[in-house]
Amino acid sequence: MSRADRVQARFEAVDALLVTDLVNLRYLTGFTGTNGFAVLAPGLRRFVTDFRYVERAAAEVEGFDRERAPQEFLSALGDGWPADIRRLGFEDHKLSVRQHAELRDVVPARIELVAAGGLVERERAVKEPAELEAIAVAAGLADEALSTALAGGLVGRTEREVALALEDAVRAGGGEPAFGTIVAAGVNGAAPHATPGDTPIAAGTLVTIDFGARLAGYNSDCTRTYAAGAVGEDLVAIYELVREAQAAALAAVRPGPEGHEIDAVARELIAAAGHAEHFGHGLGHGLGLEVHEAPRLSTTGTDALAVGNVVTVEPGVYVPGLGGVRIEDLVVLTDDGARVLSGHAKDLAVLD
Ligand code: ZN
Ligand code: ZN
Repeated sequence: MSRADRVQARFEAVDALLVTDLVNLRYLTGFTGTNGFAVLAPGLRRFVTDFRYVERAAAEVEGFDRERAPQEFLSALGDGWPADIRRLGFEDHKLSVRQHAELRDVVPARIELVAAGGLVERERAVKEPAELEAIAVAAGLADEALSTALAGGLVGRTEREVALALEDAVRAGGGEPAFGTIVAAGVNGAAPHATPGDTPIAAGTLVTIDFGARLAGYNSDCTRTYAAGAVGEDLVAIYELVREAQAAALAAVRPGPEGHEIDAVARELIAAAGHAEHFGHGLGHGLGLEVHEAPRLSTTGTDALAVGNVVTVEPGVYVPGLGGVRIEDLVVLTDDGARVLSGHAKDLAVLD
């Protein structure tokens, strides 16, 4: 079955699905341009783009009838609807209010518009072997880039210098940073998504580095926390706590449980150590064509984990005024548990 066939097999409240999200469009059709949409229905595979992407679409898009339309091209949806399509699903989590109004204007009045966001994302959550390979290659490139960046040490360099060194190495290896690299030293580490700054990294602080590479459309995501010079016992204690929580959660990752059950494994350990309010984000997230996608490992994650999911496991403890620790691995769900794609060691390393 093609990806489009598998998404169509998920139709319940719709007869057809309009795919406007560009990541979902790429997943279904192979199209890498920035303007296009597709319509899926039994016996119907329409792909529409504008003048600028006609040739690219001819090279990339298979299994769909390709059409060209003006740039404001939802107008192409005005006709060509089989009589048995009464409910058209649209991606309500990605379509703007204005686009929805345009859609209502052009689609025949007899067709009901139905919010159907997430259908493609649920299919994307289960990776094919080639996708797993692409993610593993991206993770390997990112790991090499971290080694390159750390070769220059940490103490005395700025967060920004370390981040740039890492991103340069990712680009030199043929990829792009999957997201803005986070290098957060000392008290900055207490902010989970701190922006790298220009203050030299001081000895005696923890440095959290969250980084990833994107290659052939697929992403990686990993976090390590290092000691810049020897650090105090209070920092070592939160490091070891996060290390233990991460190991326990990793050991619990397998097909079957819902995301919140894995989240709870790490959260309970951290809470028992008195740091409940210092772990304010979810345990992890799915990853693939996007850095954050289904399934979620959080207190509200209700997707059951399945073979072929790729998720991060990234507990953290962030203590205002002191510093923070996050340890994040990328893992693939397998028949008998999980396989870790992140390569760097997790014992607390002291770097000069
Ligand atoms: Zn990350
Ligand atoms: Zn992450």
